Amino acid sequence: MSNRFIGARQTTLAREIQLTGTGVHSGAPVSLTLHPAEADTGLRFLVTKRGRVISEIAAHVANVKNLTLCTVIGDEAGTTVGTVEHLLAALRGLSIDNLYIEIDSKEVPIMDGSSAEFVEAIDRVGIRELSEPRKYIKVLKSVRVEEGGCWGSLEPYSGFRMDVEIDFTSPVIGRQRLQYEMSPGIFRHEISRARTFGFMSDVEKLWKAGLALGADLSNTVAIGDGKVMNREGLRYPQEFVRHKMLDAVGDLALAGMPLLGAYRSYRGGHRLNSMVLQALFSDASNWAVVQAPKTRATRAPVQITAPAALAAAE
Ligand SMILES: [Zn+2]
Repeated sequence: MSNRFIGARQTTLAREIQLTGTGVHSGAPVSLTLHPAEADTGLRFLVTKRGRVISEIAAHVANVKNLTLCTVIGDEAGTTVGTVEHLLAALRGLSIDNLYIEIDSKEVPIMDGSSAEFVEAIDRVGIRELSEPRKYIKVLKSVRVEEGGCWGSLEPYSGFRMDVEIDFTSPVIGRQRLQYEMSPGIFRHEISRARTFGFMSDVEKLWKAGLALGADLSNTVAIGDGKVMNREGLRYPQEFVRHKMLDAVGDLALAGMPLLGAYRSYRGGHRLNSMVLQALFSDASNWAVVQAPKTRATRAPVQITAPAALAAAE
């Protein structure tokens, strides 16, 4: 089923989704509504205040404002939305091209620290295929960025390949490397449930600085005393590098369209992921927008539904 989503046509959600949660940095409640959108809309945030839209911000690297702890995008007037990466990872991971993301706060809710609850919500309503062909950003020339012992690169490739490696001095994490030919099936099963992680010593510093106020063991894998503090342990072998790959899928969604290229990073993070995209876009000869080949016309857009939504269908 999953590979059908990497079809030749653009997609959106079959129905609206409403979600609530908590901002990991503010600790404040957040409401999120995902609205189906027409072809060529892309992924766009609608920031509301007292029920009115005060800003529309495209999920694009040109709108990135800050990358210190999470990925923050914003507009010229100073309105920002932070922690966008896990939601964008779910949308790009499941091949959703077009969506309005209405949000009444400055931060996408952290949920369980992974993309799992976003994936479950998307599976409940299903994905709708639109009639317009899908567009991709095709990498034409390799770009590589290096900073402080970390590096990342994008190379020409016919699909979307991810190769992510981390190397921590803590033996709880150590060196982990993971390579996948990314597809909705791989994203859903191998990546989407991997949680954010942090060291207790860092979290305590963030709390003192008034940050990470919503972080706790329900949404973060915490490492302290040379072990994982969460009683339930890890969800996957190598959950840490899987989460880094999840972050990279979300950060690379800021290309504005799905990528045709091979991504590789060593000791990367949000800042490096964003720098690689900036390097790609810095020269117009590095990339091109290409369309998926046209398929036989159908009379109406085909609706693709996930198993959970099929069971609930009238
Ligand atoms: Zn993350």
